[in-house]
Amino acid sequence: MKRQKRHSPSKDVWVFGDYRNYFQNRVTLQLIAKGRELARTLGGKVTVLVLGAQVHQYAMEYVAHGADMVMVVDHQDLMDFQVETYTRIVTSLVEDYRPDIFLAGATPFGREFFPRVAKRLKTGLSTDCIALEVDPENQLLLQTTPSFGGELLAEVITQDHRPQMATVHPGVFEERPHDHQAIGRISYPEVDIARDNRVQLVRSRPEQGKKGRLEDAPVVVVGGWGVNSKEQFQMLSELAELLGGEVGATRPAVRAGLAEEGRLLGQTGKKIKPKLLITVGTSGALQYTTGIQGAETIIAINRDAQAPIFKMADLGLVGDAGSILALVLDKLRKRI
Ligand SMILES: Cc1cc2nc3c(=O)[nH]c(=O)nc-3n(C[C@H](O)[C@H](O)[C@H](O)COP(=O)(O)OP(=O)(O)OC[C@H]3O[C@@H](n4cnc5c(N)ncnc54)[C@H](O)[C@@H]3O)c2cc1C
Repeated sequence: MKRQKRHSPSKDVWVFGDYRNYFQNRVTLQLIAKGRELARTLGGKVTVLVLGAQVHQYAMEYVAHGADMVMVVDHQDLMDFQVETYTRIVTSLVEDYRPDIFLAGATPFGREFFPRVAKRLKTGLSTDCIALEVDPENQLLLQTTPSFGGELLAEVITQDHRPQMATVHPGVFEERPHDHQAIGRISYPEVDIARDNRVQLVRSRPEQGKKGRLEDAPVVVVGGWGVNSKEQFQMLSELAELLGGEVGATRPAVRAGLAEEGRLLGQTGKKIKPKLLITVGTSGALQYTTGIQGAETIIAINRDAQAPIFKMADLGLVGDAGSILALVLDKLRKRI
């Protein structure tokens, strides 16, 4: 499609289509649903921008989940995500089409790539937003994001520069159901794909390990700093296994090497919505609870009866983590 340069900004909302795995793809679908709501308020449309090689099926998927339009840049050289190339192409498309709002998932790639795009466009970026609304008074995007280490929630607006850019964690918004009859336009803008040769991808392979995905687990057992030994973390793993679930962790536990970074929950980790969450030796800091507030039932174990985690727990057990875990495991092992 011949690119038409716009001279005035549009009221459209753009979403960056990150489709590399289930986790990235879900946040794109969630942003389409939110973007659609924002676009309707502004009187615009929601467009998903997809870069890659042979990505047509993703474009169809985005339409089925509510995109009015999908802009596809399809080229063999875009097979692998290269931050330099993606930044250059996306920046030039935004300059040409001038969307009002541009959203991306707060995934590792979104975190690396979106600030670069914002810098080149000389606009603001709110990261890790937990709410997005259009202010009916002035049609500006209200971007709510934790600040001062999560102590405060800041409401940010981008007054003068465009687009208004934000990243959002997976799980903050709900995706729309798949509608195979949905109608949307798919366009192929003309883009100069010249390769940026500064970085060459030599090899890529998926993370090793047979553990399941935290985001899909019906039961998650979380270890915090109160479970500060390998032996006790092993007890958490056994409990998770017996309950058909997965193990999550807070930042101090990850930092101590008791769990991998991929197990981190919270503001800078994953956000999950299991049916049952058992949180052991965690104080209940906001940066952590942001990641678990979607859980249906929460059981907290902490030796301090005043720990803030008990305020959000459906059931609280006050006592030593090691002793309670040993007791529960003993009972469960006998039942199975
Ligand atoms: C910008 C920023 C982002 C952050 N992002 C995240 C994030 O994404 N995820 C995250 O988790 N943290 C994050 N943090 C850190 C966060 O502020 C907290 O420090 C962290 O969540 C606390 O983890 P915790 O509850 O395991 O440890 P602590 O706060 O140290 O709590 C340990 C708890 O264990 C209890 N305890 C101790 N011993 C026992 C025992 N034997 N039996 C039972 N209970 C016991 C204690 O009573 C205490 O309540 C972030 C911080 C900043 C500044």
